[in-house]
Amino acid sequence: MSREALLKRKRRWILLHLLVLMLIIPVIMGLAYMLAEGIDTERVSTVYLPLAILVAAYAGLGLWKGYRMEIPNYRLVEIVKCTNCGYENVTTPKVGDYINMEKEPCPKCGRPMKVFLIYRERVRSSKKGG
Ligand SMILES: [Zn+2]
Repeated sequence: MSREALLKRKRRWILLHLLVLMLIIPVIMGLAYMLAEGIDTERVSTVYLPLAILVAAYAGLGLWKGYRMEIPNYRLVEIVKCTNCGYENVTTPKVGDYINMEKEPCPKCGRPMKVFLIYRERVRSSKKGG
């Protein structure tokens, strides 16, 4: 799944649990009010209050889980290696780069360097990365 799709899913997850939480909190407050004021003649609050608290706890937990959900971030890495002395340079690949492609000469010995490896690396991003 792409990063965009995962981000969308995370947003939807958070929104859903936030919505449930926002709906259940007034219910809890209402039930608590009924209990405190003694106007709950049918004793419905004794049944629905723990239920509502349970739902709120579940939604809160889901919200926390959504907030903590990590979206993997990747970057491309290219290793350019000198064919003569073995000097290595780690860069970001440019469009059109391929394995064994000749690159700029080696800064150590002046012989041509070649693309040795191109791979995708997972970036451990901070919370701000999304
Ligand atoms: Zn070299």
